[in-house]
Amino acid sequence: MLNIPEAPAIAGATHLHSGKVRDLYEITDGPHTGELLMVASDRISAFDHVLESTIPDKGEILTRMSLWWFEQLEPLVANHVISTDVPAEVAGRALIVQKLQMFPVECVARGYLTGSGLIDYDQTGEVCGVPLPHGLVDGSRLPKPIFTPATKAELGDHDENVSYEAVAKQIGPDDASMLRELTLDVYARADEIARGVGLILADTKFEFGVRHDDLGTRTIVLADEVLTPDSSRYWSLDEWVPGGTQPSYDKQIVRNWLLSPESGWDKGSDAPPPALPSEIIERTRARYVEAYERLTGTTF
Ligand code: ATP
Ligand code: MG
Repeated sequence: MLNIPEAPAIAGATHLHSGKVRDLYEITDGPHTGELLMVASDRISAFDHVLESTIPDKGEILTRMSLWWFEQLEPLVANHVISTDVPAEVAGRALIVQKLQMFPVECVARGYLTGSGLIDYDQTGEVCGVPLPHGLVDGSRLPKPIFTPATKAELGDHDENVSYEAVAKQIGPDDASMLRELTLDVYARADEIARGVGLILADTKFEFGVRHDDLGTRTIVLADEVLTPDSSRYWSLDEWVPGGTQPSYDKQIVRNWLLSPESGWDKGSDAPPPALPSEIIERTRARYVEAYERLTGTTF
């Protein structure tokens, strides 16, 4: 079902893995040998498909957004970024990062109820074992943000929500407690920043890893991409109306078009979605630019 193009060869790096959007390489040459090169492509996914159309500059916008967030969060948590001095063919849309021992946990923070959290809540009244008040609906703000970890699924599979206790059993209670605290602290700060520019950070996913330095100190480090629209749900504060699906800040234009009769696509079928019209591509690109510019207060 996933239709991920082959990652291009990059001199001085070995391809390790491709996700829906990013290509990961290990550096084999120069001062950063053994570290990773994370390349963000212009690919976009919707309804669990990687679309054949790409969004120009998306990889660069999301890379710069992630970098900006890592900087904002520096007072709260160490991060894996080493350098933006990357091979010319991926300039602007790649980062050299420290290779970490990753925790096998998707560290999700939710301030609002939607998506898989809503499904769990409707069935059990809880999300990941966290009990919630009665009467919440799609898009409700939670009394306070919650940590709702998930296991990392294989490519193309869905992550599975798990309880905090399951995480503690898997990685040990001390690390589990650290991950929960970091996740909620970083979410709170990010939500505050987003709110300041009229955005809601409904939920987001972080990944953390461990770094051992030469003196034997063990540090938990924020890795992967952070607070991009691909790892987070951003909503417009002025469009937020609980009680139904909130428009997604970035992908709504694509989703609406794919579901419209105009696209001719049947979501329920096995068929891959059709190519996007240039107008949809351009409007989607403009949304990513707008998100970047609103958050950072700079021009892309
Ligand atoms: P999806 O497209 O669904 O996200 P995916 O998670 O397999 O699929 P990517 O997110 O592109 O694909 O893959 C990035 C991989 O790199 C993830 O497995 C992530 O855990 C890993 N990773 C991120 N940062 C680091 C790091 N500093 N050290 C080691 N691995 C890392
Ligand atoms: Mg991923």
